[in-house]
Amino acid sequence: MLQPFRHRSNLNSQITLPPLPTTWRGKIAYLDRDGVINYGSENYINSVDELVLLPNIGQSIGKLRRKGFRICVVTNQSPIGRNIWGHENLAKIHDYLSVLLLEQDSDAFLDLILYSPYAPWEGSWARKPNPGMLEAGRQIMQIGSENLEKDFTLSFGHNWKNQFDESKSVMVGDRDVDMEAARKFGVRGIKCNPEEGLSGVINQII
Ligand SMILES: [Mg+2]
Repeated sequence: MLQPFRHRSNLNSQITLPPLPTTWRGKIAYLDRDGVINYGSENYINSVDELVLLPNIGQSIGKLRRKGFRICVVTNQSPIGRNIWGHENLAKIHDYLSVLLLEQDSDAFLDLILYSPYAPWEGSWARKPNPGMLEAGRQIMQIGSENLEKDFTLSFGHNWKNQFDESKSVMVGDRDVDMEAARKFGVRGIKCNPEEGLSGVINQII
């Protein structure tokens, strides 16, 4: 299977989650990136210079985490599959994004960043509207944070039997593919305005 990728880590390596201001009871906010955290572009975000945050985003992510949500970014990044640029370029963008958010709000950690590098024609389960990144995100947060001694196995689609309760979780995105991925995964989907991003819908979540 064409699996999702994880920011600066192997997909199924143990994870040390950053401190959450409150007790974690399993809630995850799955966030699309462009049009939710930063402004999107028809020509992709190709470098840190093109990364512009949406209004009040650091505070909104901080607020979610103070309310007990872990943050899992799930972003399609087909420029890699289209050979426009590579994984390291994306990693630099995500390093910078993380710094900018923490400058705005000291609780605004991105607990986990997953991305799908595949082009649409590759048909990956990890590319939205398919739910593979969300499936991986839940398992990494849940199993990867408890199983600190060794790598673990991820399951996808019909092969995944022990699913977790997503009734308190949300998926926020600005496009239909995000809502379709949420529906297939079985989590509440909230569509935001790409000019407002997460902050425009935060009152629907908390
Ligand atoms: Mg988007």
